[in-house]
Amino acid sequence: MRDQIAHLVQLQDIDNEAVAVKSRLKVCADRIRDLENKLKDLSLRIQAKEEEREEISSRQKDLEQKIEDATRLAKKAEKRLMDIKTTREYRALQRELDDSKGSIKEMEDESVQCMEQIEELDAVISVLKKEHDEINRVYQTEREEAEAEMKEKEGWLKKLTSSREKIADQLEPRLFNRYEAILRSLSNQAVVPVEAMVCKGCNMNIPPQTYNELQRGDELKFCPHCERILYYKDTGDNVE
Ligand SMILES: [Zn+2]
Repeated sequence: MRDQIAHLVQLQDIDNEAVAVKSRLKVCADRIRDLENKLKDLSLRIQAKEEEREEISSRQKDLEQKIEDATRLAKKAEKRLMDIKTTREYRALQRELDDSKGSIKEMEDESVQCMEQIEELDAVISVLKKEHDEINRVYQTEREEAEAEMKEKEGWLKKLTSSREKIADQLEPRLFNRYEAILRSLSNQAVVPVEAMVCKGCNMNIPPQTYNELQRGDELKFCPHCERILYYKDTGDNVE
């Protein structure tokens, strides 16, 4: 039984390490995903701003064309004004010309507004692109580091898995199954030491009788409170 208990303790050590390795792997993967999401988000924002800029820019070009056309027509009208003989006709054309100048002025104002908006958008896009570049730099470096670490950790995990199989082979199947069942139901802690009569799984005192039997190590003992498999750990200051 002592052998079996020792194997159970080894198994728990391996599983503890595997949990730590897996959690580190998750941290690496999460960090990479987090940076990737930030980059994706920034790219989308840049794209949206560029589309907005494109729309305003084409509106502005359209306005410039309309201003040019209207100005040309207005100039023609001004020339015609000189040839007009009657006051009535003159006034009518003059009014038309005033309206046209008014609308040219409006279009010019809107065109200026467009240009201002484009300038603002250019500034925003430039800030976003700079941010994107910075995060991308961090991402490239961190991804390389994380991938190297993950590769190493995955290799280590494989080694742990094969050691685990070897130890499991040396365990009585009923013990191994029991271990697995407790491991699953009690947050990855199936085998815990008892130090100074305290179960390190639940931090409760175990009965003296159980403690004495545990020290002898002749049979498998379970914590009466949390039901984990116990093993005796000499801390040098045990209560006898
Ligand atoms: Zn316990």
